[in-house]
Amino acid sequence: MPGVTAGPAARADYLPFALPDYGPEELAAVREVLESGWVSTGERTHRFESEFARFVGARNAVAVNSGTAALHLALEAIGLDDDDEVITTPYTFAATAEVIRYFRARPVFVDVDPMTLNLDPRLAAAAMTGRTRAILPVHIAGLPCAMDAILELAARAGIAVVEDAAHAFPAKYAGRTIGTLSDFTCFSFYATKPLATGEGGMICTEDDQRAARCRLMALHGISRDAWRRYTTDGNWYYEVIAPGFKYNLTDIAAALGLVQLRRATAMAARRAAIAAVYHAAFDGLDCLQVPSMGQEGDQHAWHLYMLRLRLDRLTVERAEFVSRLRDRGVGVSVHFIPLHLHPYYRDRYGHQPCDFPVAHAEYLREVSLPIYSRMSDTDVDRVTDAVLAVARECRR
Ligand SMILES: *Cc1c(COP(=O)(O)O)cnc(C)c1O
Repeated sequence: MPGVTAGPAARADYLPFALPDYGPEELAAVREVLESGWVSTGERTHRFESEFARFVGARNAVAVNSGTAALHLALEAIGLDDDDEVITTPYTFAATAEVIRYFRARPVFVDVDPMTLNLDPRLAAAAMTGRTRAILPVHIAGLPCAMDAILELAARAGIAVVEDAAHAFPAKYAGRTIGTLSDFTCFSFYATKPLATGEGGMICTEDDQRAARCRLMALHGISRDAWRRYTTDGNWYYEVIAPGFKYNLTDIAAALGLVQLRRATAMAARRAAIAAVYHAAFDGLDCLQVPSMGQEGDQHAWHLYMLRLRLDRLTVERAEFVSRLRDRGVGVSVHFIPLHLHPYYRDRYGHQPCDFPVAHAEYLREVSLPIYSRMSDTDVDRVTDAVLAVARECRR
C-alpha cells in the first residue's frame, strides 16, 4: 500500500531506517478529528482504549502520551519509593531505567541471554534482595522474554512485574498475548514503533483499582467522582487528590491509533515476512548471526531486526560495516548502547563495561536493519543485496 510522502529522508537513493506506515485512512481519520473541533482527550481516545483492550484481551487499557509515561505510571501505581530496587536489563533504551530513577529507586541491572538479548531470569533470581519491588523485563526487538520464569520469580517474592512492551505489539509468549500476562504491560506508540501515533502509549492491567490510579495520575490527580457524589448541578466540580502528571493522549493520536489498530495484524504479517526473507538470506553465512525467532507458540513483533556480526570472521569492526551499508544507501542503526556504559549510570553506580559482559559484547557487534511494513519487496532486496555485498567485501 502506498504511504504518505515522507520528508527529506525518503530519497530514491536512500532507504530510511524506519518510517511509520500511514496511508489514506490515517489521513482521513486525522482530518476528521481536526474538523470535529475536539482535538484533546475525548471520545476517540476512549474508543482507542477499549478497542486496544479488546485486541490484546486485557481487562483495562489506559491511554497515555508516551511509553515512558506508561512505565512511570505503572511504577507509581505499585507505590515505588526511595531506595527500592527494580530489576531490569541494561540492553535497552534510556526510558526503561529513567522511570525507576523518577522515584529515586535503584535500577538493578542483570545481564541478558546471549541468544535472545532479553533479561536472563536466572540472573534476576540471583539479584533479588529484600528491597526488590519489581522486575521490569523488556521484550527486546519484539521477542517475548522468558515470562514463565519471570512471573514465577516475582510471585514467589510477592513483587510486581511491569513489562516494557514498547517493541512488542502485537506479540505472544507461548500462545498468550503480551498485555495479559503480568501486573502491568506498557506499550509505546512512538513514530517508529509497530503501532505509531507520533507519540503515545498504553498501560494494560487486569487490576481495576490500579487502572483507576493510572488514569487519575495521568491527568493531574484530578478526580471528578466528588461531584457525582455531592453535587446535583453542573460538571464543573473536581478535586485534586494527588499531584499527578500531564500524560493524557490527544484524540489526534487516538484517531491514528484506531486506524493503525485495524491494520495491526496485516502490518505485523508484513514485518514477519521481511524477517523471513532476511533470515533465509543471512542464515547460512558464517560472518553473520541472525536473530532468534522465538520459541514454539511465540509471536515476535519484529520492531527491530537485530543482526549480529561475527567479528572474528570479518576484517572490519561494526562501525565500518555500518558505514559501508550507509554508503550503499541503506539506513541502518545500532540497538542499544547498554545503559551501564552511559555516563549517568556508569558514574552513579560505578559500573564497568565488564559488569554485564553479554550486553557489552553483543552491543559491539549489533547492526539493526530496516524492517517496517511500508517497505516494498524492492526495498527488502536492496537491504539483502547490500548486506551480502558488504559481508563479501569484509569476509576474512
Ligand atoms: C520507545 C521505547 C520506550 C519509550 O517509549 P516512548 O513512547 O518513546 O516514551 C521504552 N522502552 C523501550 C525499550 C523503547 O524502545
